[in-house]
Amino acid sequence: MTSAFAALGLSDGLLRAVAVQGWVMPTPIQAAALPAALRGRDLIGCAHTGSGKTAVFALALLQRLALPAGAPVARGTGGLVLVPTRELAVQVGEVIRELARGAAAPLKVAVVHGGVSVNPQMRALRGGAHIVVATPGRLLDLVERNAIGLADLGVLVLDEADRLLDAGFAEELARITDLLPARRQGLFFSATFAPAVRQLARAVLQDPVQVDVPTLEERDAPAIVQQAIEVDAAQRTRLLRHLLEDRAWSRVLVFVATRHACERVAEALRRAGLGAAALHGDMAQGARSRVLAEFDAGTLRVLLATDIAARGLHVEGLQVVVNFDLPRSAADYTHRIGRTARAGAAGLAVSFVSADTEAHFRLIERRQGRRVLRERVPGFEPKDAALPAVPGVGGIKGRGRSRKDRLREAAQRAGEG
Ligand code: AMP
Repeated sequence: MTSAFAALGLSDGLLRAVAVQGWVMPTPIQAAALPAALRGRDLIGCAHTGSGKTAVFALALLQRLALPAGAPVARGTGGLVLVPTRELAVQVGEVIRELARGAAAPLKVAVVHGGVSVNPQMRALRGGAHIVVATPGRLLDLVERNAIGLADLGVLVLDEADRLLDAGFAEELARITDLLPARRQGLFFSATFAPAVRQLARAVLQDPVQVDVPTLEERDAPAIVQQAIEVDAAQRTRLLRHLLEDRAWSRVLVFVATRHACERVAEALRRAGLGAAALHGDMAQGARSRVLAEFDAGTLRVLLATDIAARGLHVEGLQVVVNFDLPRSAADYTHRIGRTARAGAAGLAVSFVSADTEAHFRLIERRQGRRVLRERVPGFEPKDAALPAVPGVGGIKGRGRSRKDRLREAAQRAGEG
């Protein structure tokens, strides 16, 4: 099940921790960065939120700092993760703690950031910590209070280095790195590489391995055309089949909420003579690899996948993503649609919206600060009550206005977004 992770060199304990997370395939940055990081190399990675970068440094830290069972908690600090905000500090701390359950001996993880009382943090650091996640200002505060020692640090991580600099932490970072031993591992992640970021990287890293994984940079991404089609939930399979027959989509990734639905829809499409297969966590590794290889090679046209199964999936030239079921969060929506429009080509993201998911889709729109025009496909107009039929082409937003007006407004909104 986790053989793809095992090949990267993770210990058995961490492989179990990864399996507990439900991660089946490493994300591209994990596949590219973990082997070098686990060997102790310095690393510079171009990575966005959502790329799976947190697990790269979390797993590397946990494996590098691994202790034999029963070993005492270290004095001093083993690994330090510097992050720009307190929210990120908390989030990163949680990820490390979750994965640390796979460590042989319990590891002490401390999270320190400004905006809250310093005393509990001083108490938490007493006697040292294996891993400290910190914002730079509070860390220096704790150094001045002699609450933390960094002289024996083994691994330094800079997460979201560009944001650390944007937040005005350059001086603090310089003061912190002055306190660190010369021999240590450095892991450096940034979404952008402006000259100041490169300069910082040069200052904290030695002969780093560079890992660039193309990920979705929302603002700079090539246009992803977003569509929402209003349809009754019960008609979605028929609509999907119709769209696949009607439109010249070559390779289509369809997101479905459950394993069972994955199978059911794939079967219905196959019965209609369309090349479709399911990908979900219940499948044996062999079957999963086979399906992925076919999809990658272009011999399989439609892949129906759950979020989990599709997470690490990286397919070149994916043209269309269909949200048969909406994702739970706006972040997942961004992940999903970011799978199209890779390598400079425009992609299409189609979401099916029904009466019971309309409110949820509006939430997703709000979160991404962008409205998506509601459309209807002739023959599949919704009959369910909460999506009121509108004279003309209709649509929630279109009530009383012409299609042309709505298109113009949508274009304006897209421009604003
Ligand atoms: P990050 O870019 O580190 O913020 O991670 C984004 C999300 O991806 C988090 O919700 C992780 O739990 C998830 N994630 C990380 N690695 C994997 C993986 N190999 N497979 C599936 N999900 C993952």
